[in-house]
Amino acid sequence: MTLVLDGAAMARELLNELRGRVAQLAQRGIRPGLATVVVGDNPASKVYVRNKMRSCGDVGVHAEVRQLPGDASQADVLQTVEALNARTDIHGMIVQLPLPRAIDAQRVLQAIAVKKDVDGFNWANLGALVDGHPSLAPCTPLGVMRMLDRARLPVEGRHAVIIGRSSIVGKPLALMLIARGATVTVCNSKTRDLAAFTRSADILVAAAGRAKLVTADMVQDGAVVIDVGINRLPDGKLAGDVDYEAVKSKASAITPVPGGVGPMTVAMLVANTVSAAERLNPS
Ligand code: NAD
Repeated sequence: MTLVLDGAAMARELLNELRGRVAQLAQRGIRPGLATVVVGDNPASKVYVRNKMRSCGDVGVHAEVRQLPGDASQADVLQTVEALNARTDIHGMIVQLPLPRAIDAQRVLQAIAVKKDVDGFNWANLGALVDGHPSLAPCTPLGVMRMLDRARLPVEGRHAVIIGRSSIVGKPLALMLIARGATVTVCNSKTRDLAAFTRSADILVAAAGRAKLVTADMVQDGAVVIDVGINRLPDGKLAGDVDYEAVKSKASAITPVPGGVGPMTVAMLVANTVSAAERLNPS
């Protein structure tokens, strides 16, 4: 029987656990606050932002959106970030990606105060992760690790193969898996004979953004398959990077899309915000 890793249920559990920490902060008059900076009008971003706001609200975390017009200048965006850096009632800040082309995304991301960088994209936070001392780490890889742990799926000594080397998913996830004793292979669009690598994976993570990239013949019997991909199909439906039905019959555990890594990413963002509020207000 294949274990379907229900990310929505795991995310609810995680959010429930956060309530206690939020209540403890409330006793000291602190309400964790998350600000999301949005530039322009991207329909996909709207859905993500709404989900994040809802999850924050569910556990008593304040969430607000700073919406800037699509033609906002670099200086406007940086000023908004600086203003949020200075606010004591905001403990976490994210800038919704993608930003319009005219804005230098790296400059904006690096302007977020390190202690409020709940997406974990600041070089200081990424550097801490490289060195094995993470403070605020990227939410999607954190969500993947949490799913493996919740399902008691062992990592140590396993061969983990990650398809995708982005700074948001593939690279930080590789670091987290290495820290836990996995042997890690990171593939990318230039990898020759991708299937030769994926077939030797005990844990296979697909984060390429290519619908049905991973077919059943690319997966070893009994592998754990984590699908990070979110692709909009021509019929409007969402699909991951994995050919779910075919791969499910070979995998020992698999995440669905939607309802897998996505909700866990949002839950980890709320968790990072609560952690940031605790660290900014040590008792
Ligand atoms: P990205 O475009 O920055 O990186 C994609 C990576 O995949 C690149 O390293 C590229 O080399 C690799 N790749 C592309 N095609 C490949 C192929 N055919 N074979 C091997 N490697 C290939 O994307 P990203 O931001 O890392 O996101 C990846 C996917 O994950 C997207 O579908 C995105 O929507 C999704 N995503 C989901 C969540 C979530 O919460 N579930 C969060 C972030 C991203």
